[in-house]
Amino acid sequence: MTGFTLIAGPCTVESRGQTLDTADSVAAGGATMLRGGAYKPRTSPHSFQGLGRAALAILAEARAVTSLPVVTELTDVRELDAVLEVADVIQVGARNMQNAALLTELGRAGRPVLIKRGPAATVDELLHAAEYVLAEGNGAVTLCERGIRTFERSTRFTLDVSAVPVLKERTGLPVIVDPSHAAGRRELVRPLSLAAVAAGADGLIVEVHPDPENALCDGPQALTTAEFAAYADDVRALAAAMRRPVELAAA
Ligand code: PEP
Ligand code: MN
Repeated sequence: MTGFTLIAGPCTVESRGQTLDTADSVAAGGATMLRGGAYKPRTSPHSFQGLGRAALAILAEARAVTSLPVVTELTDVRELDAVLEVADVIQVGARNMQNAALLTELGRAGRPVLIKRGPAATVDELLHAAEYVLAEGNGAVTLCERGIRTFERSTRFTLDVSAVPVLKERTGLPVIVDPSHAAGRRELVRPLSLAAVAAGADGLIVEVHPDPENALCDGPQALTTAEFAAYADDVRALAAAMRRPVELAAA
């Protein structure tokens, strides 16, 4: 893998307009894949849980309009068939990283899988999670560092930059970084993204929203659609300096 993957989109599919607007902006800014949550693993059962299948239909439309491949999270194996109809890559969220049944089903499904590191998981535990998918014969696994829980409270989580070279030492699987959930604030997304590129990450997954103030989930950490293009320019410039051109991943 020489190319660098820039995945961008809303935390959550909230509406058709919000998703298509974001998809257009990130496509124009040079993203190589669209993200968007249909099933949201929220800490509180009283928070917005995602639009489910209605969101999958919106993601399908965004995919058709922009030609960007889609990554979306599966939280429950009962929704696997519905997610398989839309997702080019299926995300396992941080909270489900050690859900062995989910990982095994995704191994059998054969679709590329993106596994996010749990906030309290070690690098070894993340690699073991990947092995559940690999053991079923599905080798298309990407690992994602998205911040871990430490004593530090100035950021939402602590981005473990060292996990990038450590994982790359331990496995040939691609390693990407999610600066949005690590930081919890949009001001930190650019510097953490550049640190990830410099550390040798194979890609970034970043949250973008047209109106973060009114986002139903994770607004404070979302880049605005208006600022995405300049952000992507900076990422592309550093990735190029690292001899990692930002490009669509080979299918
Ligand atoms: C997400 O990507 O929207 C998400 C919920 O991330 P995480 O699982 O890393 O918290
Ligand atoms: Mn989010």
